[in-house]
Amino acid sequence: MDFALSQEQQMMQRLMRDICSDYGLEYWREKDEAKEFPHEIWDDLTEAGFTGLTIPEKYGGEGLGMEEIVAVGLALGRHGGGVSGPNMLTLGPVFGGISLTEHGNEDQKERWLPEIVDGAIVSLGLTEPDAGLDTAGIKTTAEKDGDEYVLNGTKIWTTGAHVSDYIVTLARTSPMEEGSRHQGISLFVVPSDADGITTNKIDKLSMRCLGSCEVVFDDVRVSEANLLGDEDSGFYHVLGTLNTERIIWSAIPLSAGELALDLAVDYAKEREAFERPIGKNQGVQFPLAESKMELETAKLMIYKAASLYDSGEDCSMEANAAKFIAARAGSNACDRAIQVHGGMGFADEYHVERLYRDVRLARVAPVSDELVKSFVSTNVLDLPRSY
Ligand SMILES: Cc1cc2nc3c(=O)[nH]c(=O)nc-3n(C[C@H](O)[C@H](O)[C@H](O)COP(=O)(O)OP(=O)(O)OC[C@H]3O[C@@H](n4cnc5c(N)ncnc54)[C@H](O)[C@@H]3O)c2cc1C
Repeated sequence: MDFALSQEQQMMQRLMRDICSDYGLEYWREKDEAKEFPHEIWDDLTEAGFTGLTIPEKYGGEGLGMEEIVAVGLALGRHGGGVSGPNMLTLGPVFGGISLTEHGNEDQKERWLPEIVDGAIVSLGLTEPDAGLDTAGIKTTAEKDGDEYVLNGTKIWTTGAHVSDYIVTLARTSPMEEGSRHQGISLFVVPSDADGITTNKIDKLSMRCLGSCEVVFDDVRVSEANLLGDEDSGFYHVLGTLNTERIIWSAIPLSAGELALDLAVDYAKEREAFERPIGKNQGVQFPLAESKMELETAKLMIYKAASLYDSGEDCSMEANAAKFIAARAGSNACDRAIQVHGGMGFADEYHVERLYRDVRLARVAPVSDELVKSFVSTNVLDLPRSY
């Protein structure tokens, strides 16, 4: 049992920290306020090879795995990116890189993977107005017409769709049947600028710089060559990608929590009240110590899930557990950071208010606390299914 990061993983974390130091917290605050995609840092991540992290070397990538995505995601979040920074890694290496590497045919890999290495942005269009956690309820359809599919429907919350090159989209190719709700869904790679696509940004609480969108598909035609994996089996294909999304979505709140804790510790040392640093009071110290312990414990489960995934083993329980525990640990750390900052915790310039807003998302998306608990109750503890 070895808990240490490899030399290569440590080197990647240092490289990420160096990139982050060119930007700093003010950069992220300004991007959040302007609701602007952080293209500058995305370009730097691309240049450093991070967008190709999970993509096999044959297609120009680094051929690495989830352990490395977690390691660099944690560094990106802790050194400034908070929640939005590491979530950018889903918009290429995960939604594009892993989906295509796992389910694409050779033509599709040769066509799209090098583009992702070169910084193409890939969004995931799963959630709809009437279907989020209940994916089988999606109403977007893809009807076969000759050698094309015609997509109609509406997605919501598609993060990055307004700046993306492709949207990996789930659509129904066959009607839902009694007893097989998840059969009949297919996965498509849809160019974001295809005729018939309209994208509208949604005003929101969290991750304002990344933008999440309503995406309307109105007779959008894609070639059958854009179907990923087998027709009607898209839900099962996406399940594998969802575990990787859960793992990265554990690192995201964790790294935001680590950043909030760093800021709170610095503030506790500097801020004086009653003629002494506030950090001298155990009432201030103890919540910070609790956060440190919670964050470190959650990190172990994240790396365990990542390591299992990379070795090809089942990581569903660990990916869900890591997501749940890290979202709690990160949220607690951000909440405590606000408390330590007192009134200044509410001022934009101290950054913890942004982390507090952003990290709340991790308890709802990409899977909610409730659904994680249902998964563990049913699939791990073998209790009767509740829904
Ligand atoms: C900022 C943001 C970014 C997002 N980015 C993306 C993206 O890029 N791509 C994408 O496809 N989606 C994205 N989403 C959507 C996100 O994944 C969903 O909002 C999330 O999965 C929850 O689904 P829902 O909103 O439909 O909630 P619902 O399914 O309507 O659930 C609402 C509440 O009911 C609870 N609930 C529902 N069923 C049960 C049950 N059986 N037992 C117990 N509790 C239950 C849930 O836990 C939740 O608390 C994003 C969302 C947000 C807010």
